[in-house]
Amino acid sequence: TSLLDKEQMQGLRAIREFLKVRTSYDVLPLSFRLIVLDNDLLIKKSLNILIQNGIVSAPLWDSRRSAFAGLLTSTDYINVIQYYCQFPDEIDQVDQFRLSSLRDIERAIGVLPLETVSVHPMRPLYEACRRMLKTRARRIPLVDVDDETGREMVVSVITQYRILKFIAVNNEKHTMLLKKSVRDIGLGTYDNLATADMNASVLDVIHLMVEYNISAIPIVDKEYKVLNVFEAVDVIPCIKGGAYEELSSSVGDAMSKRADDFPGIYTCNEDDRLDAIFETIRKSKIHRLIVVDDDNRLKGIISLSDILKYVLLYGEEDDVQEA
Ligand code: ATP
Repeated sequence: TSLLDKEQMQGLRAIREFLKVRTSYDVLPLSFRLIVLDNDLLIKKSLNILIQNGIVSAPLWDSRRSAFAGLLTSTDYINVIQYYCQFPDEIDQVDQFRLSSLRDIERAIGVLPLETVSVHPMRPLYEACRRMLKTRARRIPLVDVDDETGREMVVSVITQYRILKFIAVNNEKHTMLLKKSVRDIGLGTYDNLATADMNASVLDVIHLMVEYNISAIPIVDKEYKVLNVFEAVDVIPCIKGGAYEELSSSVGDAMSKRADDFPGIYTCNEDDRLDAIFETIRKSKIHRLIVVDDDNRLKGIISLSDILKYVLLYGEEDDVQEA
């Protein structure tokens, strides 16, 4: 193997060691707020709370049992939308659904409930990463037990985004060694990409996300040039106030309603190296990279899970089974 390969492996191993000696707790900022929603809250009201607080997910709390009741994410709202599509006559009922009904909604539309994995905050971060990749969970609640009451408590939630940021910020010395290009390591997805055009309805795009089990759809023009990306979290403002009729409007209109602090979309080139990608992660709020050619034509997509998977598993013996 070449020096390039050798250094790449050396960098990856150092990052894996780092993840083994740090805990999930280490990823948390010194001070933070955690918004927890009561399971009895109307789904309709939960939308406003997320929007007002500029968040896209929250842990749920069952106050009757005084226990953690799972994580609310944009997938839950997509399920509600699918329910609405399958049972359009029940719109009045949809309005009355509470967060505790989410499991019934899953059952009614026939989707498998997402496995609720949680980790103890003091366990190695490496463990949380492995579980994320294994279960396809994109965020994992950190659940601890209160010494005095013996009750569960949710400390925070860690996401792939936070973990990659944590790696990028604390491993500059090691990410520097990752000099192989996106093309060389085959990072991301390049075949059978799900895309839509500006005139597609929000509903069409949601159905694509469900069909492909993905959380973002690049919006392209006739020449396959990338114009924008519609993300699963974009559905939240779309159904604010229970305005399900608006789902038939175009994605173009929906994306124009994004908050002012929308971080934008990030692109890269197949010749970009992994060290440069970590540089971008270090500096920006990225949730995926859209791979384009010199004419801005869509080539592929690199999701955060693609990056995490490569960093954790590439070259490991159980690479194939775990991936
Ligand atoms: P998130 O983006 O929510 O953090 P994730 O990292 O799993 O989650 P997804 O968008 O769900 O990202 O991607 C899952 C897999 O599907 C990845 O391997 C990614 O490369 C691929 N993928 C993502 N978007 C598309 C798309 N529009 N068409 C085809 N494949 C895609």
